[in-house]
Amino acid sequence: MGIVLGGMTEVCSGMLPIIDGHNDTLTRIFSEDGGGVSAFLNGDDGHLDLPKARAGGFAAGFFAIYIPSKIKNPADEPARSEGGAWTFTPPSIDHEWAASETARLLDCLDELLSAAPESLGLCTTVDDVRASINGERLGIIQHIEGCEMISPDLRELPGLYERGLRSLGPVWSRPNVFGTGIRFGWPSSSDVGPGLTAAGKNLIVACNKLGIMIDLSHLNRAGFMDVADISSKPLVATHCGCHALCQSARNLDDEQLRIIAESNGLIGCNFFTGDLRGDGRFDTDMPMSRMAEHIEHIVTVCGIDHVALGSDFDGAAMCDDLGDASGLPKLIDLLRDRGWSEHDLTRLAYGNWMRVLDATWN
Ligand SMILES: [Zn+2]
Repeated sequence: MGIVLGGMTEVCSGMLPIIDGHNDTLTRIFSEDGGGVSAFLNGDDGHLDLPKARAGGFAAGFFAIYIPSKIKNPADEPARSEGGAWTFTPPSIDHEWAASETARLLDCLDELLSAAPESLGLCTTVDDVRASINGERLGIIQHIEGCEMISPDLRELPGLYERGLRSLGPVWSRPNVFGTGIRFGWPSSSDVGPGLTAAGKNLIVACNKLGIMIDLSHLNRAGFMDVADISSKPLVATHCGCHALCQSARNLDDEQLRIIAESNGLIGCNFFTGDLRGDGRFDTDMPMSRMAEHIEHIVTVCGIDHVALGSDFDGAAMCDDLGDASGLPKLIDLLRDRGWSEHDLTRLAYGNWMRVLDATWN
């Protein structure tokens, strides 16, 4: 199915409108010490809020319902900024707690949407996303990152779809009833653990039928290959970097990049410094050109039609030169300076997302 791209470039006061593949803003602002609805509408010190979105041309994005693991003692986490090899598997979470947290976050999202209906809108159709690209309202695409709130018989899935869910990642970086998430680590590989369970395979088929996008980010290699075998839709990794440039366990190797491209899917390049730097550290004093190198590696392996942006705003460390969502035009300008055409920048910013959503949701 084709889509109309014409007329969509001259919006957001001349800025290139951007569809972003992933953020954890809902989890951040609706946490115990988050600022809630007013923090998002008026701005705070996080990566993404309404003023920063407007300043950066952030037109629409995948807003994750993400339930963090309860890490009792932060000292149990490896000292990742000191250099050297490390791995870390976050503890599993139980269904009841995930379900109650999901219900709470969905209520919070409703509250946010009804507080500023002229400025924010839930995107459940391709037309909704197109309206956001045209500058009408900041578009919120509802995504679940780690499906612990869904039972193995998938009984919650239709209700979540009704409530606006249009994208999910079966696992975060921990095992659950659907599959095995990639533990965090550097230098490391995603080839750890078994593939999808029977329930995980059923989840992929059910999402294909309902029109819910499947996100491969955080899925181990065997699970990735299972989704590639089972799914009838373009394959998508909403926020990943390139393993060829940074051996983070969560990054995609060139074979995985090619499999995504062959499905006519896309990779949203992650902005997380720990997945971009080559040295396994999380430090934010990374030149923005490193982001361009990962983006351009995806283009080299996959072609321009299979690359997009997947920031991980409010869920990961960003490089100092970008800062937050208001810095997005700096990244676009940097790529333009490196020789990118306006046509290719448009593909990266939103055109590829529109093609994939059109093929996935309809
Ligand atoms: Zn993530």
